[in-house]
Amino acid sequence: MKAASLNATHDPAARSWVASANAGGDFPIQNLPFAVFRRRGESDGGAWRGGVAIGDEILDLAALARCVPFGGEAAQALRAALQPSLNELMGLGPSALSALRAALFESLLEGSARQSMLIDCLVPQADAEYALPATIGDYTDFYASIHHATAVGRLFRPDHPLTPNYRWMPIGYHGRASSVMISSTPFHRPLGQRLPAGADTPEFGPSARLDFELEVGAFIGRGNAAGTPIPIASAEQHLFGLCLLNDWSARDIQAWEYQPLGPFLGKNFATTISPWVITREALAPFRSPCARPDADPHPLRHLEDPSVRAAGAFDVQLEVLLDTAVMRERGMQAVRISRTNFRHAYWTVAQMIAHHTAGGCNLRPGDLFGSGTQSGPEPAEAGSLLELTAGGGKPLALPGAQTRSFLADGDRVIMRGWCERAGFARLGFGVCEAQVLPSPVIHPGSAG
Ligand code: MN
Repeated sequence: MKAASLNATHDPAARSWVASANAGGDFPIQNLPFAVFRRRGESDGGAWRGGVAIGDEILDLAALARCVPFGGEAAQALRAALQPSLNELMGLGPSALSALRAALFESLLEGSARQSMLIDCLVPQADAEYALPATIGDYTDFYASIHHATAVGRLFRPDHPLTPNYRWMPIGYHGRASSVMISSTPFHRPLGQRLPAGADTPEFGPSARLDFELEVGAFIGRGNAAGTPIPIASAEQHLFGLCLLNDWSARDIQAWEYQPLGPFLGKNFATTISPWVITREALAPFRSPCARPDADPHPLRHLEDPSVRAAGAFDVQLEVLLDTAVMRERGMQAVRISRTNFRHAYWTVAQMIAHHTAGGCNLRPGDLFGSGTQSGPEPAEAGSLLELTAGGGKPLALPGAQTRSFLADGDRVIMRGWCERAGFARLGFGVCEAQVLPSPVIHPGSAG
């Protein structure tokens, strides 16, 4: 694995002429993540287009392209970023992306001669709305946290919580791309079948065990041809970047349907992602050793690489906050219910890419991977209510004398992520959030 190396764009002393970028927030000049955006309510000619976050602003790449000539590979990458989805940009690969990052960095750097031209290319994030960053052809969800897999397995199989394959391959399933939604899109509680405790006949109705899953999303950059597996050593060259992902899950629907073919309607109604994709290059200072203990079996050759073992994990701090209708009515702040770190994952993104393609499956630019629920080693670091409430049996106490075993209508789940390390600028992922709306009303007589 060739790690994205450190360069001038990671200099912690670098400051931007955009003052809000120097205030310790999520988007300093060392971050430069991509999103697809437009001015809110902009229907007359305000096309969806690529933007780069800088402080509280968005550098409008369409406006930039009209006033600043980039050269070479950076120009090619900039043209790809003007489209309403970033698949072409993602597919360019590390060299062109790195050239664009360097050109953006120079343009936004304090003292840049381009400041006077670019000042009119900024759009306040407060005035923007976002679309999905890519047209997602395929979405795959993994299960890469051994702490999550063990805790959930224990609920179902107390004697042998981990399945025998767990330490040998990154377990995953093919998810549903059509219902991946951008942050701030509310969705309806799903209807579905469940088997009530002790019953022998299922019933149909609104899910009573709606949950979140704290995950990291990975956007694929360059793809591979069908029949040509991606070797583990170069797997990360195919990673464009990371975002936050909430894999909403209806546990009652899931429990009744999942055998023998795995998750289906319990997870295909909504998946929320954050709008900003943090590039692999921006994350270069925040790499960690793979969390797999040395005493565990070594992975098979196609999943094993010294540099993946040494630095394949991403050190991304993660937290989940919950905001309920009652809390909003009373003017109370959202409350944090979990905090963990992506570096605890047992399988790395590089291993997911190598495993996914090992049999010849082709990935395409803009494909999305979910990491699986990220739970840390401690109980308070669990990334789902299923774990935080011990299967619903120990409800969480919330401000305003409320409790939650699972999500209620009106609940808003907010996820945040950030990277912090001595000697580097802190950078953040922004927010991934959405609100649960009531189920659609069932009209029993309306069939046909
Ligand atoms: Mn999941």
